[in-house]
Amino acid sequence: MTELETRLQHITGSDRNIYCHQCGKCSSGCPAADFFDFRPRKILAMVQLGMIEELLTSEIIWNCAQCLLCSERCPRDAGPSEVIQALQNLAYISDINVPEGYPVLINSILKTGVVQTPIKVKFWRELPTKDAPRLKFEFRDRFSLGLPQLKKPEDFQKWSNALQEILKWKKE
Ligand code: SF4
Ligand code: SF4
Repeated sequence: MTELETRLQHITGSDRNIYCHQCGKCSSGCPAADFFDFRPRKILAMVQLGMIEELLTSEIIWNCAQCLLCSERCPRDAGPSEVIQALQNLAYISDINVPEGYPVLINSILKTGVVQTPIKVKFWRELPTKDAPRLKFEFRDRFSLGLPQLKKPEDFQKWSNALQEILKWKKE
């Protein structure tokens, strides 16, 4: 087993991708497949063939929207979305072909627990006028919309520690 394969297995916490029997149910429901030449089934096949470096150096793994539909549909519990996410993490810690915004996203998760903190939303408000109604943009925050303030996830510390563990690998 190569070092990349060992690290991938460590990140996924299992090697259940070997259960994939190439039925294609994941690819047939994948929303990203409509826009890109992207097939989770193919990624699982490449992982089984040990083509980890090829996956990391291509841009293909970053086209996954992490909607998790493939893992829901998988009859073999092979966890395609988890494998793709692990490949993204592996690319990050190995400094291979990482999209520019990804480190920003990771820093935000470490500090706040979420990818991006929603601050204000923009919506149309109808202005009463004598003639035809006129619409105007307004910005509203959670408080003015009657929503509770965002809380950090309950297991935030555990999550943050796990992420820090991966980042340690990056420094090795
Ligand atoms: S998690 Fe990624 S690979 Fe799976 S269905 Fe969604 S976009 Fe496709
Ligand atoms: S990952 Fe699951 S759904 Fe996708 S091809 Fe393999 S067995 Fe089928």
